[in-house]
Amino acid sequence: MKNINEIRADFPILSRKVNNDMPLVYFDNGATTQKPKCVIDTVSEVYATYNANIHRGVHFLSDMSSEAYENAREKIRSFINAGKKEEVVFTSGTTGSINGLAFSFGERFIKPGDEIIISYLEHHANIVPWQMMCERKGAILRVIPINDAGEIIMAEYLRMLSPKTRLVSVTQVSNVLGTVLPLNEIIAAAHSVNVPVLVDGAQGIQHGIVDVKAMDCDFYVFSGHKIYGPAGIGVLYGKENLLSELPPFQGGGDMVEKVTFEKTTYNVLPFKFEAGTMNYPGAIGLMSALDYISSLGREEIAERENELLSYATERLSAIEGLKIYGNATRKISLISFLLKGIHQYDAGMILDKLGIAVRTGTHCAQPVMDRYGISGTIRASICFYNTKEEIDILTSGIEKVKQMLE
Ligand code: PMP
Repeated sequence: MKNINEIRADFPILSRKVNNDMPLVYFDNGATTQKPKCVIDTVSEVYATYNANIHRGVHFLSDMSSEAYENAREKIRSFINAGKKEEVVFTSGTTGSINGLAFSFGERFIKPGDEIIISYLEHHANIVPWQMMCERKGAILRVIPINDAGEIIMAEYLRMLSPKTRLVSVTQVSNVLGTVLPLNEIIAAAHSVNVPVLVDGAQGIQHGIVDVKAMDCDFYVFSGHKIYGPAGIGVLYGKENLLSELPPFQGGGDMVEKVTFEKTTYNVLPFKFEAGTMNYPGAIGLMSALDYISSLGREEIAERENELLSYATERLSAIEGLKIYGNATRKISLISFLLKGIHQYDAGMILDKLGIAVRTGTHCAQPVMDRYGISGTIRASICFYNTKEEIDILTSGIEKVKQMLE
């Protein structure tokens, strides 16, 4: 792996100053990651040298952009170890993928009284689309509870699985608590009663190796911007037999085979799910991000992030009055915490003045807050380009917050 100075030099934004000359300390990687120069250059190159709409023209530039877009699909296929390119659908992001799937799955498979299982740890993006679908179809949403450490209670999940269950949709990693869910057990139990599983990989894919074949999930979704790629591009992976059975979730150009006013027939996979002009510069930029990640080494990234998590947990735990939420046995590099007697927004604002970017609030996961009876947390989400020195800056920043507000 490159050394940390070389890695940081790959990310132009990391050397900028914020708030009157404070060096940027970026700990909001859970919300979005920064982009390496190769990704920025790739997107810029698309627009500067071969911009043209994909799958449309017979001209030189359209061929070039179509080929690059399809190469990006192949790159994603191999990155997540999907069996076929046809199983990789481009979307606008995790939210787009889940909404699309909830619509199509609901139309095809759901009738009144059917049940969908999610968990208490879900981001709103993996709650609301299912609620909307349940409302439309008269189906019921069941929720797996969590323990105080922030782990799902497997016995409750196993009890919940029933002949009425049509789908299990769970996150790979909690964006609030960092909990890594036991996906192998969750998926095996669902499959034993022939129920498919959707995995929300928005917080999982950037922290280690994802192999959809080994995991045996039926659907896997993620966002490009959380794995060092551009915003506005995401992926919906689905097993071919399931995707083939689902109706499209949007109609328009490119997703059709033949259109007449009487009847339209649909394109083959994956194009059936890609209506209208897709974000091809985003897809091509995402390909560049995945190349970058692979060049650093995904195992090496996970190892470095684990080390940073241990260091941050040790430093933050030593601060008096600081309480960490989420102490799961398996966790990614993210720490949610509160300071006794101090509102999270006040703390976040002072940290910001010190150049430290953290996220404050509910993190789009209101039920987790309700579970702990709190209105929000301060979240420091760490990734491989962060350093122990930055964790020291965060630690002294928190001490300063305490001095000012306690
Ligand atoms: N699921 C999880 C677990 C997330 O953390 C997020 C983003 N915070 C999303 C879904 C939604 O991702 P996006 O906004 O990129 O669609």
